[in-house]
Amino acid sequence: MGKKKVLLTGASGSMGGEAFKELLRRRDKYDIVILLRPSAKNKKAFEPYEGQAGLKIVWGDLCNFEDVLEAVNGVDHVLHPAALIAPEADKNPPLCSRINCGSIENLIAAIKQQPDNGDNVRLVNVCSVAAYGDRLPPIHMVRVGDPLKPSVGDFYATTKIIAERSVIESGLKYWASMRQTYIAIPDALSLMDPIMYHQPLNTHIELITSEDAGYGLVQAVEAPDEFYGRIYDMGGGPSCRVVFSDYMARMMELFGLGDYRKIMSPNWFAIRNFHCCWYEDSRVLNEYLGHWRHTLEDHYRQVEEAIPWYLKLGGSIAPAFIVRGVMRRMADPLKWIESNDEEKIKAFFGSREAWENIPDWDYYVDADSGEKVEAGREVPHLIDDVRELAESRGGQCLSEDSGDINGKLRWRCGFGHEWEATKRLLQAGHWCPECAAPPWDYDSKAKADPGLAKIYYNNHSENESQCVEYLYCPNE
Ligand SMILES: [Zn+2]
Repeated sequence: MGKKKVLLTGASGSMGGEAFKELLRRRDKYDIVILLRPSAKNKKAFEPYEGQAGLKIVWGDLCNFEDVLEAVNGVDHVLHPAALIAPEADKNPPLCSRINCGSIENLIAAIKQQPDNGDNVRLVNVCSVAAYGDRLPPIHMVRVGDPLKPSVGDFYATTKIIAERSVIESGLKYWASMRQTYIAIPDALSLMDPIMYHQPLNTHIELITSEDAGYGLVQAVEAPDEFYGRIYDMGGGPSCRVVFSDYMARMMELFGLGDYRKIMSPNWFAIRNFHCCWYEDSRVLNEYLGHWRHTLEDHYRQVEEAIPWYLKLGGSIAPAFIVRGVMRRMADPLKWIESNDEEKIKAFFGSREAWENIPDWDYYVDADSGEKVEAGREVPHLIDDVRELAESRGGQCLSEDSGDINGKLRWRCGFGHEWEATKRLLQAGHWCPECAAPPWDYDSKAKADPGLAKIYYNNHSENESQCVEYLYCPNE
């Protein structure tokens, strides 16, 4: 048997870059194809590989079908981590939609043009934890099957949901989708960004190092057939779980900035409407891919090694009030409060009063000893009965379940919209395409959808009302 041929998209990204390195380590087993935009940066980084045996570079655009077809022709596997991510994604919603939804449609269509309707090509799609939206305690344990609830204004997440829907409903014989958690890269300087303040201090994060993410993606090439036709949560496992306030404390320490409580205040941070969680079922994927290699401590070590010497020095000589001034200037939520930006205040706090009542640091330090959920407990089964499944979302299944997992059934949501979808799609937390954000109007949706209500009313009240088409761009 000849070598397997693997197409990788997004080789210039953080996950794709590590996957590319991993593929290079396995060149004796695989022939590699990468599809890259011919930007000056990509040209410089990847030209050294051009012309090498067993490695083909297609210079092109994922939004251009001809380019995608050229890349897909003759491959056995397609690994697709490429995406336009925040903040670029939020700055340009139409472009984000074109790249994140258009690329997967092109890949699916190109696979279908392969021999036997593409039945011998295996597609792995990378989705995002952002699809779940905010899942703050006590509902911070997440599993596939939970309703998808992208945060208000998170346009990127909505495109990843649409893309995943396309994959699940593609009719391809072999597909899988992995909902990727926060990818922790060694360059922690990139954390020093206004977006860190959009994240509630009690956010639970199960991170994954970029190396483990890339390794896991490539491991999928070796996965058995039963791996396909499923949706997974991809995280680093229990040893990579942390609460955001603890994570930040450690980062500040690594940067030599000292006690973070002296340089920041809790009310610089949003109290809801971000994303991240601990995955109750990420071990399912690890059983296939064996990608749980690094721990949180390994990540901290990588960060420490990557900190430039002058920064360490700067941290030790700059007085706390100067550091505080720099950090405060980045705190977006304070700007929303100062400019009385009502929609953002609603989305991220609920009300100005809620912001005014944000407790002091002691609250968060004490909260730390709170309930921690044990890893490894039994993962609940997905709802199999179609009527029960529809009722869990306040809707109905209008078809008889034929038992064919790829069969399309007809569904109706609590607002009377009707659509066709496989049972598997809805089992994975997707629901009515017409009700899906944007616009974000969970306050009315939750009243007709008990599944959504269960998670939404964790930190919203039934008296709230917000409906927005577009909310913000981080870093604006
Ligand atoms: Zn609907």
